[in-house]
Amino acid sequence: MNSRDAYITSIKGVGSKMAELFAKVDVFTVNDLLEYYPRDYKSYPAPVSIASVKVGDMVAISGQITDSLSILGSSRKKIITCHVSDGQGVLSLTWFNALFLKNVLRKGGHYVFYGRVRQYKGALSMEHPEYFTIEDYKLKMGHLLPVYVKTAGLSDNSIIKFVRQAMGEGVSKREYITQDLLDSMNLMDLDMAIRQVHFPDSREKLERARKRIAFDELFFFLLEIKSMKALTEEETVGIIISDFKAGRDFVKSLPFDLTAGQKSTIKEIEKDLASGHIMRRIIQGDVGSGKTVVALRAMIDVCRAGYQAAMMAPTEVLSSQHYETIREYFEKYDIDIEVALLTGSTKKRERDAIYEGLSTGRIGIVVGTHAIIQEGVTFGKLGLVITDEQHRFGVKQRDFLAKKGAFPHVLVMSATPIPRTLGLILYGDMDISLIKDMPAERLPIKNCVVGRESRQTSYNFIKKEIAAGHQAFIICPLVEESENMDVCDVISYSADLRRQMPGVTVEYLHGKMKNSEKNDIMERFAAGDIDVLVSTTVIEVGINVPNATVMMIEDADRFGLATLHQLRGRVGRGAAQGYCIMINGSGSDKSKERLDIMNKSNDGFYIANEDLKSRGIGDMLGLRQSGEMSFKMADIYEDADILKLASRLADDVLPKMNEKEAADNPFISEVYSRFKKAAENSRIDAL
Ligand code: ADP
Ligand code: MG
Repeated sequence: MNSRDAYITSIKGVGSKMAELFAKVDVFTVNDLLEYYPRDYKSYPAPVSIASVKVGDMVAISGQITDSLSILGSSRKKIITCHVSDGQGVLSLTWFNALFLKNVLRKGGHYVFYGRVRQYKGALSMEHPEYFTIEDYKLKMGHLLPVYVKTAGLSDNSIIKFVRQAMGEGVSKREYITQDLLDSMNLMDLDMAIRQVHFPDSREKLERARKRIAFDELFFFLLEIKSMKALTEEETVGIIISDFKAGRDFVKSLPFDLTAGQKSTIKEIEKDLASGHIMRRIIQGDVGSGKTVVALRAMIDVCRAGYQAAMMAPTEVLSSQHYETIREYFEKYDIDIEVALLTGSTKKRERDAIYEGLSTGRIGIVVGTHAIIQEGVTFGKLGLVITDEQHRFGVKQRDFLAKKGAFPHVLVMSATPIPRTLGLILYGDMDISLIKDMPAERLPIKNCVVGRESRQTSYNFIKKEIAAGHQAFIICPLVEESENMDVCDVISYSADLRRQMPGVTVEYLHGKMKNSEKNDIMERFAAGDIDVLVSTTVIEVGINVPNATVMMIEDADRFGLATLHQLRGRVGRGAAQGYCIMINGSGSDKSKERLDIMNKSNDGFYIANEDLKSRGIGDMLGLRQSGEMSFKMADIYEDADILKLASRLADDVLPKMNEKEAADNPFISEVYSRFKKAAENSRIDAL
């Protein structure tokens, strides 16, 4: 029997080679495999008559092979062809490098072929169709079949086989909620839900299954958040900071006036810092609303009072940007607080020096990824932790600091536009400061949604902006070219662009590059040495290059609106006019309609609400919003009802989460142990 945590090699047929392929998609255990949810579903249609098919259709046809399979081509590229007839029409079939078919398909045999109809030398044909015996096809037809995110060497069919195997081998039961409780919440049994998500009986069951899995994700997420609240309530004594002169002077010296939202947020922070309680505050403000200046002000006051501040960002690129921004401000306004950058790629010697500076208290501000809060780091007097787009400053990290005697104030910066009702649940333990207004002199971004045919016009526009001394971003969904998708990729796109724009410096950026390379490119872009940066969405969050005025997004229809909004927020940050060009790669009207929401408004909250209204079941299973608030299944907008259910149960369970209750109550015991495990694996650590 398989246990959930057994390595995937315990599944029949999965050897070490297969396990290596699975490791590439982060599947290590049997449980991981069961949670490797499909990206989408397909269903095989009823076969149609060959006489009725048109070029371009994806169809199934049923017929008899009329000739022996012939092999053409060179020794390196063998082509296998034959013809199929259903009495009303004939179609030719070809496969490349598939010699084994000689022993699979035979002349005179009846089969079903599924694929896209093409025109080849004037005749109808299919390339690489899937083939089935009539009986097999009948079994598949009409069912929703899973489509997984693939990696080379792992086909859907093999994943399906192993998932079935894992289920069939009787993986220990996963449900931990009592039947009564499930009934009262109208939730599907978890074991059933996992089965249905992989192999749905119907759309309805699939949706119920998805909801159940979403419930679990949200439930444990909320337990984590709510337990943080419990933790802060225990530790109510916060460091008291009551002298804000340094921060006020800093703000006065800025070349601009703060917006009303920035001012009121600062007031709220001052009140928290002086209150004697530990601050837990989230600053919610749209991209470009000026959260960083507010955070910086708080850091200055904390440092002047003799404490240290740590600022954490989700990536190294963002961390070094924050670091540079702070250093520039301090240099310009003559503020003598030592600032350090500490990330995973900081060299040992430098790292040791920073550790030393942090423990003696010499370094006032440290900026970095989670490397800053780790074994080995001791703070002399940590007074404030700021996190950027990391809503969960994990229980573990706080525990870790608490054990070292540090109970810092916590400030979270977030540009995730979450409707207020959801915010109350998700940020239940935090006070919220809103920055609603944008800096006054900021010009609203000009948008347009166009088809691929307008690419050249867009390039001409970009060239003009560059000639005027500005810079541009171009976003592509993929890193590398993919043979089965007609979607732009960063690498071949930038090669093309270099040919099209001689004399313009084009570089690219994507998540698979080494951190040092990424940092280097970002630094050069920020310094103005790169004119056009072709990138995946890695630049989505937070990057601040005020001189960049154009954001061109290829295949914009492939991104969620929230992502598009974040991307657009990268331009229009300076005094110059910003532009966002969204290319509707699919050309479909439905995509155009969705993108038009972006066209109409620059307001993140409006967009989030419209996004909610416009998403259907197809999108739900497709590309998801990125960032920390994303889950495998749950969607904070779609699943507001589930979120409320999960929140209620979490409130119920939380006071009982201790060894004593766990000993008497199997449900609590199970939740408690899963919660501890989830907290250990909290995504925060993966960053
Ligand atoms: P975000 O909220 O996205 O983190 P930032 O803090 O990075 O925004 O601010 C974006 C840009 O706007 C920065 O270049 C910053 O110096 C500038 N800025 C911030 N506040 C104001 C303001 N009140 N008036 C004008 N410019 C501002
Ligand atoms: Mg920011």
